[in-house]
Amino acid sequence: MVYDSNNIFARILRGELPAKKVYEDDAVLAFNDIAPKAPVHVLVIPKKPYVSMDDFARESGPEEVGVFFKTVGEIARKLGLADNGYRLILNIGGHGGQEVPHIHVHILGGRPIGPMVVER
Ligand code: 5GP
Repeated sequence: MVYDSNNIFARILRGELPAKKVYEDDAVLAFNDIAPKAPVHVLVIPKKPYVSMDDFARESGPEEVGVFFKTVGEIARKLGLADNGYRLILNIGGHGGQEVPHIHVHILGGRPIGPMVVER
């Protein structure tokens, strides 16, 4: 899938749209979700233009993937979520329910998050 450089998160990365940033380094940006589903709902994205986890796993190396997920864990700890626990969600493509085509990890916490998936 070709990366759409006008997706919302690409525009946030370029500073064209505002976001409430909670963490930033050379490779990663984390910001509050605009429609939070929990008291803490943060989105963590690599700055490089990967469409999805599928794209990220195929196109990046183990070092890059490892550093990214280590950073996700450190952000969750800095947000005060490590002791009580939290949930990570990574939606991929159509069946995964991914709406924004720039890979993002949801960090959800601050209360019990509930069932893993809603059965239907
Ligand atoms: P997805 O369904 O792709 O995994 O999640 C996309 C997430 O992006 C949703 O939770 C949605 O609320 C969030 N979102 C959509 N547009 C914006 C925006 O403009 N700013 C921020 N901060 N979050 C957004």
